[in-house]
Amino acid sequence: MADGSVSGADRDESGRRGSSDHSNGSRSDDIGSADDRSDDSDSDNGYSDRSDSDHANDKSDSDSSDNDAGHDYDNRGYGDGWEELRQQTLRRDNYACTRCGADDRTLQAHHIVPRSAGGPDELENLLTLCRPCHGVIHQHNSAFDDVRDDAPLFPERTAPKPVARLRTPADQCCTRCGAERSDPTELVAWTDVPASDDGRPAPSHVTLCKPCTGLLLERDPAVGNEALTANHTISVHELAARRTDAPVRPSVFALSQVGIRREPRTLRERVVDDTPLRFLLNHRGIRLALLVAVGYVALFVVLAL
Ligand SMILES: [Zn+2]
Ligand SMILES: [Zn+2]
Repeated sequence: MADGSVSGADRDESGRRGSSDHSNGSRSDDIGSADDRSDDSDSDNGYSDRSDSDHANDKSDSDSSDNDAGHDYDNRGYGDGWEELRQQTLRRDNYACTRCGADDRTLQAHHIVPRSAGGPDELENLLTLCRPCHGVIHQHNSAFDDVRDDAPLFPERTAPKPVARLRTPADQCCTRCGAERSDPTELVAWTDVPASDDGRPAPSHVTLCKPCTGLLLERDPAVGNEALTANHTISVHELAARRTDAPVRPSVFALSQVGIRREPRTLRERVVDDTPLRFLLNHRGIRLALLVAVGYVALFVVLAL
């Protein structure tokens, strides 16, 4: 019932939540660097609203009314105008979470630019979020740890950009190619993942970029529409058309269930992308190191002459 206002796909996600936690955890280890990167941008946020969230943590979702929350905010030094401003924010957003659309959960006002970073207490800088979605935006704030998983995996399509994020930073990365996609409409979740060959439990979902989803459908035409969810209408034709944009080889961190190789089509794909040469030529850091090494050797040769 708490999810009454979100789409069927999202409901499916939270219904499977219990079994998903463990597998999500192991997956985010795999792509830890991507996690860290996107979390860094959140860290300011994480502390700015700490007083909101501490307060929010004290209350159960069901018994808190907007008035109580406002009262506590005032006690925490939010100033006289805060309650009025908070009410204005909720009214403007039609008393619904701007990320997931829920209107039956504790609603809070979120600073887009955190106060700690000089974000003003102004209507334009505030968005209404339900507590679970507030936790999605503040990934590092442990006060939200108990409710973060209640947030739907995908934001609503109408969600404003500052809050249009997937549930965890790991969810924003394609589990095949590792690419990070900040635009949720570029990601699709596969919710019917089989167990891996080495017996590790199947995650409740994996997210894939659209090109990699196209590959999955090509390998496994039985993956039906009902096994794919997104916050937008999925076009199987679009996915199929974009599969040639997927890297030929999956990333070394790819889950085995999505570790699909694509047939190379061009000479470059055959010679570079489908061989270990791709590590040398496709990765900027290694390419730079190679260039420096070659330059060094050249310099050495020139000086020796
Ligand atoms: Zn929400
Ligand atoms: Zn991908």
